[in-house]
Amino acid sequence: MTLPDLSDSERIALFLDFDGTLVAIADRPDEVQLDLSTRKALMHLDTLLGGAIAIVTGREIAAVDRFLDPLRLSVAGVHGLTRRDAQGHMHTPDNINGGFAAAIERAAWPIMQEYPALFLEYKYGAVALHYRSHPELEQACIALMEAAVDALPGVELKRGKMVVEAKAVGGNKGAAIADYLNEKPFAGRRAVFAGDDVTDEDAFILVNARDGVSIKVGPGETHATYRAAGTGEFLAWLRQLPAKLGG
Ligand SMILES: [Mg+2]
Repeated sequence: MTLPDLSDSERIALFLDFDGTLVAIADRPDEVQLDLSTRKALMHLDTLLGGAIAIVTGREIAAVDRFLDPLRLSVAGVHGLTRRDAQGHMHTPDNINGGFAAAIERAAWPIMQEYPALFLEYKYGAVALHYRSHPELEQACIALMEAAVDALPGVELKRGKMVVEAKAVGGNKGAAIADYLNEKPFAGRRAVFAGDDVTDEDAFILVNARDGVSIKVGPGETHATYRAAGTGEFLAWLRQLPAKLGG
């Protein structure tokens, strides 16, 4: 597996994960750095693809906007729970029960008292427990979140790299891409998706089923058909993509 050779003959729609794909993962989510050259490539691709480019991420949409500013792309946030389409319209499931944050807080309280470097990230429709500072606590963190989520109707568990998350049921990355592919300017184009984490597998499966191009960034088992060794190799590929597409 290597990276695909896309050319101007391919009318593509580009879907990109954010953390671990466009930026190297940092100790805390707010510490990641989006390189100027990556931002420039995204701007160039947005123009070349006629807006058929979207970020598909576990983050909130507003957080992605802050990193890309002044570029404003289509974004599916919170693992596809929320989505802003190319026309700027928001799509959010009805009846999200966001009231479970307190229950997660209670469940995580004892371990967070013992290990203050653990932290909770609060998002629209989700609460994430990050244990990057204590990888040895992975099993304990997953177990307590599993138990908490089991007792919460309408809430599901999402695993990620050094993070375990309680999320309102609704959407996933694959479903978000499928929705974009029904809309202008994505419709009729060949989907290309790149991501690095287990939550990206839904999207790889969807893209493969649509005869698209799936790219896994970094090591690990995957349904993707192409692979970059890591963020550095993927970003080098992304930066040369505008020239390949004829820009
Ligand atoms: Mg990622």
